[in-house]
Amino acid sequence: MSERLICGYTLKLVTPECHADADWFRAYAYLQDDISEVFPYLNAELDNSDYDHEGKILLATGDRKKYAFRPYEIAIVPVTSREEAKSLAERMIATVNDIWKRRGEIEPDTGGREPPPDILGIYKLLPGTNCKQCGYATCLAFATALRKDSARLRLCPHLSEQDYLKAAR
Ligand code: SF4
Repeated sequence: MSERLICGYTLKLVTPECHADADWFRAYAYLQDDISEVFPYLNAELDNSDYDHEGKILLATGDRKKYAFRPYEIAIVPVTSREEAKSLAERMIATVNDIWKRRGEIEPDTGGREPPPDILGIYKLLPGTNCKQCGYATCLAFATALRKDSARLRLCPHLSEQDYLKAAR
């Protein structure tokens, strides 16, 4: 592979499932080449990353965005416009290329954090009133969307971030 791991990408914005009225999107940067070789180096260098080496998925958070790296794509959520998605994707691609270039100096890390709570674990943190304030028909639908990264925690006013993070440990 060359010094630049990612040379080009195609950007796509998708409306989150089960939330057609959302004022945000999920962005995908589709890549031409498999970038999974860089994941252990990204895991070592990025703050707040979580890595599944076998499954080839790396998750990272920063600036209130979540990034999911898979062999041929980088997903970013939430984004509010194509311009924002393009700027975030290009910033992350520059970071990936820089880390790839410096990989000789970095100790790769194939470890991951404890898995986040499963759907039932998230559901148990919710009051179960199905009040719909989050935009989902039921607490279970919201828990499912949150687990799949297609909903944001703050959409439910009854779920504390602290409790969620505690359950994720
Ligand atoms: S806002 Fe919270 S309590 Fe209400 S339905 Fe959504 S998840 Fe359940």
